[in-house]
Amino acid sequence: MKSKTTHNKPIIIAIDGLSSCGKSTLARDLAKALGYTYIDTGAMYRALTWYMLAHRLSPPMLIQSLPDIKLEFKTGQNGTNNILVNGIDITDEIRSKEVNEQVSQVSTLPEVRHFLVEQQRQMGIEKGIVMDGRDIGTVVFPEAEVKLFLTADSKVRAQRRHLENKQKGLPISYEEVLDNLLYRDRIDSTRAISPLKKAKDAIVLDTTQLTSKEQLLKALDIVESYISK
Ligand code: C5P
Repeated sequence: MKSKTTHNKPIIIAIDGLSSCGKSTLARDLAKALGYTYIDTGAMYRALTWYMLAHRLSPPMLIQSLPDIKLEFKTGQNGTNNILVNGIDITDEIRSKEVNEQVSQVSTLPEVRHFLVEQQRQMGIEKGIVMDGRDIGTVVFPEAEVKLFLTADSKVRAQRRHLENKQKGLPISYEEVLDNLLYRDRIDSTRAISPLKKAKDAIVLDTTQLTSKEQLLKALDIVESYISK
């Protein structure tokens, strides 16, 4: 874990928002700039979904298997944020089309959410974290000192994700990317437990017209103004 020397009292920064609007990039950049730890909670939901598919489990069987599943984050060779399930690195596998299609359904399961939220809260016990997801500012850390809620035009989001997939060699068309992110937004925003919604005290950042550098500068301004309060 990096030293949390930016200021005396480390804080929790929660970043929520729609699919593919730049949460992970901003959270990673912000954590780097502040010397904080970055936690990608979407990767955790994806990892459980991968496990269910890889072991051909039904959702009730996944729930039964939860006590046997150990998730870990490790820094990869190129400084990447890798995720391991029971010691197996599945960082690339969790971005597959199959996982994209199933993850939002798996994320509606109360037992799955409970299992992951407990772990996420443990990770934030010492503060000094930037955590991104859908329910971080509302459910996981309602007391987070800084909360950001990201939005962006859906076509721009799909273009960005499509380009990222292409760079990773993932053969998913632009239309499939757009359909999938609208589908996930719908399920994520309408599910009964911990739906995606803006926390009352979250600051909205529309990233449609912003480069990742501009997003970082805006977020750093928000953090600085909290700290200097
Ligand atoms: O962030 P990412 O798009 O990788 O998340 C994948 C999916 O995991 C989301 O579409 C959502 O269904 C689920 N998720 C969630 N709660 C979180 C993070 C992700 O339900 N905190």
